[in-house]
Amino acid sequence: MLHLIDLKEQYLSVKNEILREIESVIDNGQYILGPKVNELEQQIAKKLGTLDAIAVGNGTDALVLTLDAYGIGVGDEVITSPFTFFASAEAISRVGATPVFVDVDPESYNIDPLKIEEKITSRTKAIIPVHLFGQAADMDKIMKIARKHNLIVIEDACQAFGATYKGTPVGSLGDAACFSFFPTKNLGTLGDGGIITTSDLDLAKQIRKLRTHGTTKKYFHDSIGYNSRLDEIHAAILLVLLNKIDYWNSKRNDLAKRYYEKLSQTNKLKLPIVKTDCSHIYHLFCVGSDNREKYLELLQANNIQSGIYYPLCLHLQDVYSHLPYKYGDFPIAESLSNTLFALPMSPFLSEKDQNHVIDVLLNEVKG
Ligand SMILES: *Cc1c(COP(=O)(O)O)cnc(C)c1O
Repeated sequence: MLHLIDLKEQYLSVKNEILREIESVIDNGQYILGPKVNELEQQIAKKLGTLDAIAVGNGTDALVLTLDAYGIGVGDEVITSPFTFFASAEAISRVGATPVFVDVDPESYNIDPLKIEEKITSRTKAIIPVHLFGQAADMDKIMKIARKHNLIVIEDACQAFGATYKGTPVGSLGDAACFSFFPTKNLGTLGDGGIITTSDLDLAKQIRKLRTHGTTKKYFHDSIGYNSRLDEIHAAILLVLLNKIDYWNSKRNDLAKRYYEKLSQTNKLKLPIVKTDCSHIYHLFCVGSDNREKYLELLQANNIQSGIYYPLCLHLQDVYSHLPYKYGDFPIAESLSNTLFALPMSPFLSEKDQNHVIDVLLNEVKG
């Protein structure tokens, strides 16, 4: 089976370095909030250009803790995309606020800034733009709207470590940004993990407090927090991966280039569009077709794994049936959920395997 995302090859390429790092953590004797977490936080803040970074248990918690730290909760509204992984909206609901959805741009698949303002009410507190599949949302326009209406902007950058917008890395464009280190993300560890980047030092202080049971002094509590920290072992692993991420992102771009070159021979597949001013890191390489079922069957018949991101928009999920949405509200997002499918993409996808995927798709188109 040709995997959609091949994690094994990627880890085998750094296995020895990782084993040495894990050993050093074991020998060091500190397993929660030790020197590796500190170092990772500093390196990521420096790399992305923020004053601070706070490592937490996973990307979902990164969003929840950030919303909580900003005091967003019951009675508040937060604007986000209906075409994203569930966690973007789940985090909003988790703190007691209400997700308000806005349709996406048909080219970037990211929240459409032109449609945000009509959804702002007196209850709106924040916007969570998602940098979907590895490409930044239109942050200048989003920040302008947010500043005009006094809203907080929290980037959901879980799929986009290393992507840039007008030359600036995602993670330093909003008031705060959330990343996931889930294994399949482009910067993923051997388990769960996440980090928040921000230059708002009061926010950073509050998130540090929340991630450790709402306390700054051990066993004395003045607030209700969480237990959500990145393990020292994962921080050590991530420090190894952080040295590779730019190279791995460039390999993803090389693979994407070959997909574009070959698959543009047909006009039957809609290829991803990279907006001017944006660099893409292709966390996923999703193509579109009205005949998606046919392609999915074909790929499967040829032992090629595919995936649908995402088969049901968030405004149509059962859990949100109490919200005032119906099918037809977000035609672009709905159409994407019915037509997109992902092709194998990971830094270690071989030319031979990629050619196989391309041949299977092109033969079908010709045949
Ligand atoms: C993966 C992901 C998350 C959640 O990250 P976890 O580490 O899995 O909790 C949130 N938002 C988006 C867009 C994601 O892709």
